[in-house]
Amino acid sequence: MKEEDISNLLQSQDQFFKTTSKTSVLERVSILKKLKATIKAHEHEIIKAIYKDFQKPEFEVYTTELFVVYKELNLFIKKLKQWSKPQSVSPAWLNFPSSDKIHFVPWGKVLVIAPWNYPFQLAITPVIGAIACGNTVVLKPSEHTPHTADILEKIISEVFEPQQAKVIQGAVETSKKLLNQKWDYVFFTGSVPVGRIVSQQIAKHMTPHTLELGGKNPCIIDASANLDVAAKRICWGKFLNAGQTCIAPDYLLIDAKIKTEFQEKLISTLKTFYEDGSFDDYARLIHADHFKKLVGYLKDQTIIYGGDSDPDTNFLSPTLVDSPDFSSSLMQEEIFGPILPLYSYSSFDELENIITAFDKPLSLYAFSSRKEFTDRVNEKFDFGGGVINDTIVHFVNDKLPFGGVGASGVGNYHGKASFDTFTRKKPIVNRKTWLDIPIKYPPYTRVNSFKSFMNLFR
Ligand code: NAD
Repeated sequence: MKEEDISNLLQSQDQFFKTTSKTSVLERVSILKKLKATIKAHEHEIIKAIYKDFQKPEFEVYTTELFVVYKELNLFIKKLKQWSKPQSVSPAWLNFPSSDKIHFVPWGKVLVIAPWNYPFQLAITPVIGAIACGNTVVLKPSEHTPHTADILEKIISEVFEPQQAKVIQGAVETSKKLLNQKWDYVFFTGSVPVGRIVSQQIAKHMTPHTLELGGKNPCIIDASANLDVAAKRICWGKFLNAGQTCIAPDYLLIDAKIKTEFQEKLISTLKTFYEDGSFDDYARLIHADHFKKLVGYLKDQTIIYGGDSDPDTNFLSPTLVDSPDFSSSLMQEEIFGPILPLYSYSSFDELENIITAFDKPLSLYAFSSRKEFTDRVNEKFDFGGGVINDTIVHFVNDKLPFGGVGASGVGNYHGKASFDTFTRKKPIVNRKTWLDIPIKYPPYTRVNSFKSFMNLFR
């Protein structure tokens, strides 16, 4: 799309927003219902599209793409009226008499830029929040999942007029053209380096934004943990989507006392998960460059298990690596694939040295049956969100805000947190006129009485 066409589209969205931003909650609920029905009608095409993009198994599409989206839609449909009500707060008695309220107002034109790894859900979930709150939206899906981008475009154009929501497909150049425009809010999900570029580009208009980024997520296994359950939950959270999950455990830190035992449990779990060797229930890597990068990470590493690959299908089997050097590219970058480094630790200090050597992660996981241990982990480390005795499941609770901290992101969303993200709090003090205490007006003849009044606060 040409820059001029984008600019015309934004003018029409501006116009739409000015004339209809006050659309009633009921109208917005009804468009969310239409969106839900349209997604339902195209469910089969969505599953096929994501499979074509990177062979994501149907079960994973249901659990990690469609289910999450339906849940978000249902929640907004149910709660939007309640959340949108202006909130009364107790007035400041200095303003007596007044009634004070916080109004929740949409930002205006929202740009959503989405990644490829959960190509449907990560594109649609922010759109649901933005539209529900009364904004207009331009959605740019990832160029690496073209089939999903097509179905997203089809669904959005069936439900919305372009003035309200439109998909613009394209790669980096399109993204740059979009970012050249003046937006009222930008919602970006993607990598840390691109997040940095995006935040620099939108700084010129000081555009409010959310950045949902990535990082290296530690996963700690204390000797007191239920090791059988831990092995299953870690292998599931790590190898789902072939490890291409922003909140997947990036590396394991295992109490030295149980390292060998736990390693064996991980291997036997993986054998059970993919026992027939067909890897039908296992996604492929997104493209050849990602495949080459990940296979390159394995050079000179000690592979404990896996490491099988096929460049023709971008397949890399679940792979366990023993204690890679921290200066290797495997440990210098977010892995974002089915490679799991295993380290041992002998003291909490050692844990701390390793974890704090990296930027604050998007998530952290700790497996332990000792409360004092998990409390200490929670107090010591800062991270976007975490789970005790499981991995990645904090994502499914829409009552928990989802987002990073520091290099792993800015802001959060999901459920009510999405409502808070896509609205601005607009405070209004409504003063009454039946009483007008004159003390504040010049000439200031009551300095002394005000001073004694101030003594109450000094
Ligand atoms: P990416 O940053 O390469 O791309 C994301 C989007 O940005 C795409 O739509 C792409 O076209 C666009 N883009 C790429 N380069 C750009 C540039 N120079 N200027 C403007 N736009 C540009 O990320 P990806 O490879 O699609 O996704 C993987 C990354 O996303 C991982 O780092 C992962 O951790 C992160 N991620 C984070 C979350 C989260 O919720 N925090 C969720 C999923 C993925």
